[in-house]
Amino acid sequence: MADSCNTIQEFVDGIAASVAVIGHDESGRLMVPACNDGFIQMTGGKRVGMRAFPVPFDTLIPNYARHEFRQKLQECFTSGIAQELEQAYDLRDGTHWWRLSLKPFRHANGGATVLEILVTGLDITSRMQLTRDLEATTSRFRSVVDAAYDAIITIDQQHNITLFNRAAENLFGYSSAEMVGQPIECLLPDKYRTHHAQYVQQFARSPVRSRQMDERNRVYGLHRDGSMLPVEIAISKINVEGLIEFTAVIRDITDRVRLIDLLQKQAVTDELTGLPNRREFLDVVTNILDTEEDLAVFMLDVDFFKKINDAYGHDVGDEVLRIVAKVGMGSSRKVDVFARWGGEEFVAALPGLDAEQARAAAEALKSTFEQQDFTHNWRIGIPIPFTVSIGVASRKPGERDAQAILKRADLALYKAKETGRNRVEVG
Ligand code: GH3
Ligand code: MG
Ligand code: MG
Repeated sequence: MADSCNTIQEFVDGIAASVAVIGHDESGRLMVPACNDGFIQMTGGKRVGMRAFPVPFDTLIPNYARHEFRQKLQECFTSGIAQELEQAYDLRDGTHWWRLSLKPFRHANGGATVLEILVTGLDITSRMQLTRDLEATTSRFRSVVDAAYDAIITIDQQHNITLFNRAAENLFGYSSAEMVGQPIECLLPDKYRTHHAQYVQQFARSPVRSRQMDERNRVYGLHRDGSMLPVEIAISKINVEGLIEFTAVIRDITDRVRLIDLLQKQAVTDELTGLPNRREFLDVVTNILDTEEDLAVFMLDVDFFKKINDAYGHDVGDEVLRIVAKVGMGSSRKVDVFARWGGEEFVAALPGLDAEQARAAAEALKSTFEQQDFTHNWRIGIPIPFTVSIGVASRKPGERDAQAILKRADLALYKAKETGRNRVEVG
């Protein structure tokens, strides 16, 4: 008998769970008629030195956990329905978490039936730890994502938005609540929409895990108000249990784009007049010469400009240059580019025109200056008379050399000067 008792005790002790039976004594005190080692160890107790069963419930359960445990037991006794309880016990090696299930059962004791409760507990410390670690990681991730300077957007396999951080809200003008669940396409300008899904598929299949979106061309996002946002986008994909998710880190580069545009414009613009500069002019002419199109050019030089400077000052000289720019630019639809060559010299490209047509255009412009046929509020209150000389040259069939054509225009200009100024000559 003793042997079989030991075997049952060993069997019960061998169960990784904690097990206890809880009932009442005659005076109504909570008592534990039986429990395994696991139950004693659960609360940090030892069997050695323990009184023989039944032992009072209070001697097994520490103070801090007793009240809650008792309440659950009470519920269980009165309702007759199983209950669950999670409790933390502070042991020497730290806090342990247990999930206790309380099951009422009746059994015959002499003539009467008594209601007792079978308590079984599972140590859920490691799972709790994992949950907590996960919560910590998640909240760390959340705060990093939300504090990020860049917009961060995640989409799922169906290209629907699953994450939209605060910077994304600021950048696109939508709240996260509005965007989560929406297709990513609604943040793209029309022209990218048709092919976007295809690009995403391609990227999903490629072995590359992250990349910069289109490094050569500018990429734009679509703001809620319909405006285009120049952005820089790095995308990466992650495999979440077989499903591929994409995360885009999006940086607003409006300021940078504005600066680049400004620098690019400055590089091709003459500061004083706002006209294209010599480099830009040569670029345009070279492009035209790559085609077979007719082309005439002219060079225009202000006559006796030095005298204007000397008589009225450099500022008035500048004013004259700006007038030449304004009038030259608006002179004719046929002038494709009117540029400042340098000093008081200007150049024009007239694509599609032969030498005679170009001469007519140049004559008209020359007369406009001569007759002051333009409106301008002179700084000194009176108009300054001035004239210009123009040298015209046209492209020979198949000619590709811009410098050679300009050289002929320059020679024609020289001739116009030599033969009295305020003239047009064709080279
Ligand atoms: P010509 O009829 O032979 O062309 O005589 P010109 O006086 O116009 O020619 P010249 O080449 O002797 O003088 C050009 C002057 O233009 C000299 C230079 O100081 C002046 N100039 C060059 N660039 C600027 C400028 O940006 N602003 C002003 N105000 N003057 C300039
Ligand atoms: Mg000159
Ligand atoms: Mg001059």
